Amino acid sequence: MSRNEIDLLLITGQENRRYLSGFTGSSGYLLVSADKAILATDFRYTEQAKQEAQGFEVVQVKGKLSSWLAELLAEIKPSRFGFEADAVSFSTYQQLEEVEDKLTNAKLIPTKGLVESLRMIKEPEEIAILSQSARLADATIEYLRSELKPGMTEKEAAWLAEKFLRENGSESLYFEVIVASGVNAALPHARPSERRLSHQTPIIIDLGARVKGYCSDLSRTICLGNPDEDFKKIYSIVLEAQLTAIRGLKPGLEAREADRLARQVIEAAGYGDAFGHSLGHGVGLAGHELPTLNPESNDVLAENMVFTIEPGIYLPDWGGVRIEDMVAMEENEAGLLTQARK
Ligand code: ZN
Repeated sequence: MSRNEIDLLLITGQENRRYLSGFTGSSGYLLVSADKAILATDFRYTEQAKQEAQGFEVVQVKGKLSSWLAELLAEIKPSRFGFEADAVSFSTYQQLEEVEDKLTNAKLIPTKGLVESLRMIKEPEEIAILSQSARLADATIEYLRSELKPGMTEKEAAWLAEKFLRENGSESLYFEVIVASGVNAALPHARPSERRLSHQTPIIIDLGARVKGYCSDLSRTICLGNPDEDFKKIYSIVLEAQLTAIRGLKPGLEAREADRLARQVIEAAGYGDAFGHSLGHGVGLAGHELPTLNPESNDVLAENMVFTIEPGIYLPDWGGVRIEDMVAMEENEAGLLTQARK
């Protein structure tokens, strides 16, 4: 905050609010300064907030943000108050401008990524929970391997996965389970359809559990029956790209260089244009967070980061292959948190 020359920060992002305060409710605002930590929420959540947000002063508010925030800030008297530019709607921003107008000598300052950059480096307890979340994703993939049969629809398969996740300890899912077969597998983020699974076509499964708020993210591509030569060829290129990247990860490596490690394997095999997305992304309280591993990233990999490595090849008339694992950067190397068979 001092580097950004702000003396008060208003936190509106849901994961940021939970990360800093422990409060898991879906509505509330944090106000943080050098000597104040306030959690403002409404009647529905005040009791829960008092129990969960240790060290925060819980203030019950009602009505418009522009009214109660102006009242609170009139007492705190910040001179430069920051807000999260990526986490407010335009109408919230207009209310913040009203607050700025009501106060004397207070200036509204947009900030980006202040809490996200803290969340990027995980505490040992967070890595332990992420590992638990990853193991549940592993178990779900193993379960699907035994349950999927030709004739079953993608939607039915996705529901089996979701049900298994929830029955085995996952909280409500952060993102929808993806089961994409045949030509649907050529769409990196296909939604499960009525398409029926069949022999010898690639089936991409992408799923994640959520444990104590922490997401996991795992993709495997499988084939019912014996894979044909096309499948074996594409699969082995993607696997080599993934393993090459994982072996090359180390603290201090630029995220764009990590992306390069995998991308050059796929390019050398002649499929560079068929790998159109990032190599990976951070995972934590959000399913996608920092760091970002792609050719444009300015992030640098560091000890205690947790992120995915997920190269893929997508061919419109055929289908696709993606292999995704979650790794934790610990003791100078990337350890696998997800361990389902490849
Ligand atoms: Zn992912």
